[in-house]
Amino acid sequence: MKYHLITLGCPKNKVDSDGIEMLLRGAAYRPTEAPHDADVLIVNTCGFLEAAKEESIGVLEEIGRRKRKHQVRVAAGCLVQRHGAEVLARVPKVDGLLGTRRWMEVLELLQEIRGGRGRRPFQRYALLGDTDVGVPALLDDPATAFDSATPRPPVPGGSAYLKISDGCNAPCAFCTIPSFKGKLRSRPMEAVLDEALSLVQAGAKELVIVAQDTTDYGRDRGEPNSLPRLLSAICNRTDDRLRWVRLMYAYPGHVSDELVEVMASHSKIVPYLDMPLQHGDPRTLRRMRRPSRLEMVYDHIEKLRAAMPDIALRTTFIVGYPGESEAEFQGLLDFVQAIEFDKVGAFPFSPEPGTPAATLPDQVPDVVKDERYARLMEIQQPISLRKNQAQVGKLLDILVEGEGEIAESGEPLLLGRSYRDAPEVDGLVLVPGVGRVPAGTMLQVHINGAMEYDLVGEPLVAETFTSRKTVEVKLEE
Ligand code: SF4
Repeated sequence: MKYHLITLGCPKNKVDSDGIEMLLRGAAYRPTEAPHDADVLIVNTCGFLEAAKEESIGVLEEIGRRKRKHQVRVAAGCLVQRHGAEVLARVPKVDGLLGTRRWMEVLELLQEIRGGRGRRPFQRYALLGDTDVGVPALLDDPATAFDSATPRPPVPGGSAYLKISDGCNAPCAFCTIPSFKGKLRSRPMEAVLDEALSLVQAGAKELVIVAQDTTDYGRDRGEPNSLPRLLSAICNRTDDRLRWVRLMYAYPGHVSDELVEVMASHSKIVPYLDMPLQHGDPRTLRRMRRPSRLEMVYDHIEKLRAAMPDIALRTTFIVGYPGESEAEFQGLLDFVQAIEFDKVGAFPFSPEPGTPAATLPDQVPDVVKDERYARLMEIQQPISLRKNQAQVGKLLDILVEGEGEIAESGEPLLLGRSYRDAPEVDGLVLVPGVGRVPAGTMLQVHINGAMEYDLVGEPLVAETFTSRKTVEVKLEE
């Protein structure tokens, strides 16, 4: 039997997909790259924003169009949990639905589908409130599966996500996640540590710590601020094969002095922090139901930079939130210029049905959102460029991700990431003239060029590589 699994959305979904894959492989399913060749087609969907929902439905429709008679098609993940009825209405060829935190029941679901042809679709949900398809109560999560180490496949590229909790306790007015992921549920520390160890055994040189809010880890278990202890334990229990531990999704209200101290004192924890702030004006932040005391953020940043002078700080902002006046938007621009983040991601506000923000008065027209998005990026780009230029002349370790080629000349181009770049969301270090270095290799490069998002470097140990040449790369000023 063969399966074809498509993962959409964020790294948290990718971790669940890894678990699904391992269960399928354990049951003698083999992966296939070709959907038409698969006996089981699974789409692990994203339902965070309307755009993500449409993308997920589109993928389900696409593979449904080519579905063969005996193929089984399963929709899994957040969209299913949030809008199961709509998935069924719009993609009637779905045989089974698998909600969040129930991915570990994929084999049981497949068995039900195969054994009960004609009585479809079959559904399994974590019941976090009412689902919209009226499934019978499956009450709470299957504790044993969620609380033990998630089985993970080999890590070919040297980097793996490690999910430490699910759900979120924050009240952000624009966010749908708590409505379908539920409240924070932290995985037991031992389970996370076991998984970290097995990922290192499987080839991980980098562990990227993810959750809806990594910094709230442990609160639901009566041990708030447990993240520093968890990070220390990961560093202490793993051997030198693990080089980088990277922290994503820190909530500003939960960043503690202990966390800063632990980050600064363990060499495996990279000086990098992703702290989504969503806005930089207290009035907008209050309407967002987010921490609005900017002094707290300034304080965190000062401590982080004092403890780790080379730290790379990433954040994300929403522009065009309901009621965002020109003065509030200017407040955001001033904040961005004052802090000088290394990396900034931005999104125009998307009113998500069911959230308080969707019904707020003074919705901002799309054209204004787009214009503000462009202005924000225009302010940030020279800052990012300056930060990157400050890296020129330094030696940085990079984790090789793959290779490409320079468009004009066809010369090989090695693509890697330094500690300053998280996978998928940040930039790259480009190493021209070098090819055929396996993904997952770590090597030291001398940085000799900088662009707004990417750096350019040359390897220190040239003889290791097969085709090193000096190639001119056009750099922006
Ligand atoms: S902290 Fe993040 S996941 Fe939690 S409610 Fe706010 S935006 Fe959503």
